[in-house]
Amino acid sequence: MSQRSIYNYTNDDIQHAIEIDHRIWWVGHYLPHDTFQCNAYLIEQGDQSVLIDPGGYLTFEHVYQKVKEVIPFSHIRYFICSHQDPDITGVLKTIDTIEDRHRDACVVTHWRAKELIKHYDLRMPFWEIEENNWSLNIGGRILQFILTPYLHFPGAFCTFDPLSGVMFTSDLFGGMTPHWDLVARDESYFEDIRPFHEHYMPSKEILLHGLLKLEKYPMKIIAPQHGSIIIGYLIQFITNKLKQTDCGLFALANDITDIRRLSFLNKALRDITQAVIIYRDFRDIVHAILAILRRMLPLLSIEFYAYTGEKDVLYFGQETRYRGVVSESPLFCKEIFRFSKQSWNTRYKDLYQKLQLTTKSVLDRGKIEEPCIMIPLFSPASESLLSIAILRLAHDIEVTYEIERVVEQISSTLGVAIDRESIFRMVEMERKKFYEQSIRDSLTGLYNRFYMEEMLKQFFYMQDRDNKHGIIVVLLDIDHFKQLNDTYGHAAGDVVIKKVGAMLIENIRFSDLPVRYGGEEFALFLMGYSLSEGIVVAEKLREQVSLLTFGDPLNQGKITISAGVAQRKQHESFLDFIKRADMALYRAKNAGRNKVCSEEDTSYEK
Ligand code: GH3
Ligand code: MG
Ligand code: MG
Repeated sequence: MSQRSIYNYTNDDIQHAIEIDHRIWWVGHYLPHDTFQCNAYLIEQGDQSVLIDPGGYLTFEHVYQKVKEVIPFSHIRYFICSHQDPDITGVLKTIDTIEDRHRDACVVTHWRAKELIKHYDLRMPFWEIEENNWSLNIGGRILQFILTPYLHFPGAFCTFDPLSGVMFTSDLFGGMTPHWDLVARDESYFEDIRPFHEHYMPSKEILLHGLLKLEKYPMKIIAPQHGSIIIGYLIQFITNKLKQTDCGLFALANDITDIRRLSFLNKALRDITQAVIIYRDFRDIVHAILAILRRMLPLLSIEFYAYTGEKDVLYFGQETRYRGVVSESPLFCKEIFRFSKQSWNTRYKDLYQKLQLTTKSVLDRGKIEEPCIMIPLFSPASESLLSIAILRLAHDIEVTYEIERVVEQISSTLGVAIDRESIFRMVEMERKKFYEQSIRDSLTGLYNRFYMEEMLKQFFYMQDRDNKHGIIVVLLDIDHFKQLNDTYGHAAGDVVIKKVGAMLIENIRFSDLPVRYGGEEFALFLMGYSLSEGIVVAEKLREQVSLLTFGDPLNQGKITISAGVAQRKQHESFLDFIKRADMALYRAKNAGRNKVCSEEDTSYEK
């Protein structure tokens, strides 16, 4: 078979040796229903031929036949054993017995493997790669050996044939696959080799070390002992993917022996950590976590509650697009916030076993009645529990080991993210509060003069530009306020000022600017009004105030205000503008109070 057609072999073809490159033959045997296929390879080199990873008793009868289709078995001079496992060396003793080869053939391996293989008590001698400069000359063809320690044996090695570019990688690049192909067809093959590497290779670093060594060789074909042969662009693709693969997964195993389940779990755990590390924005983290959890849970929604130090909590939910908003603390939060890790574990010891039962009983009192998983989010910044996540589920579930581990992972990583977000939200709210405080008068909640000046700069600028936006000021002053203070006391005076301020806010538009201008004096700036419209507003306010009654503080008394209205001229200064309103106010006072006067209508009276 030519190399091009090795994609298109038939069942009949694999009953025979298949030439994968010039004088390099696949001589493995396909075992039906076995996910762990074993490949043996023959390098045909006359009576110096090489058999790589010969095999065990399940396959060798066929390997033997296939070799003999190509060359007499006695032409094999070297039996390369990449390590000592039974699926590689199992038949060595038989070979040693049936073929009287101890005079000219040998077992090529690393001394660490030799120390184990020697227990077969072979007559064939060993040929140790490290003692032979890591290369073997077979009739002018020089094979190179590359040590790939701990992948997955301390003395594991690969064999490279520079002439063809074939790298015989033994366990590296090996696959465990439900459907075996002689040659990997596309990128999806990586998913077949990933679980094998995650479980057999001890660590990401060690795997990377081996891959970096192999990459130095100009590989055209990768011929592993398990799984499929890898050709062309897939070599680079799969190498890159392997470099990012987590290994040593059996450390995670507990009682799960299904390596695909473990891979799936490992991926979920890694994705959770990565989501927290990669994304800055809390919303992005939540969306990533939602996607991960939905792979394994009938998850309806997720919400978070964070402790604020006050009786309210910060709530993050879908409705607020996971922006923290202050909300009333649900009962379950009151119960569990500030728990130490230890008291949480004591109290909710069985949480992960009887998850929805435990959480449900707690949550019922907090009025969440769907099945839920409640996850404590511990953060390194605090000894005690300051936030929790609630996963709402579509139906009851059986809590598997995977779910427990994922819940645990979220518990230990998401705390940091929610901490960060809570602090951000709290600071933002504090800042807003300070800002509000800095621009408002504390007694009335009206704007102060500082804010007035800032806003007027903008109002004036707009008017000065096109004179389209008329600006009106209404100056309002409580009548005989001194007398009121003297009669009822300063506190009663404050109540009056406050009530007049509230009335002002109620009766104006959002775009108007109400200011506490002085003690019992108010200024109202109106944008886009004519003078007569300003007078109407002032008149309405005067009337509203005259209708107010003050129970206790003023003994059912009433008050009045006077107002002066002026319209700003283009480019007029603030002082000139306000002075004209002040003069109008003065005239209103003089005219007997409880009056509105404008700058034009000097005799304006109600
Ligand atoms: P007019 O009708 O001419 O405006 O007379 P008036 O008594 O209201 O005017 P005047 O300016 O003589 O008195 C204002 C008083 O308001 C004097 C001051 O003690 C009092 N006042 C100023 N700020 C406050 C405050 O914040 N609370 C209280 N209770 N009184 C204040
Ligand atoms: Mg007054
Ligand atoms: Mg006054």
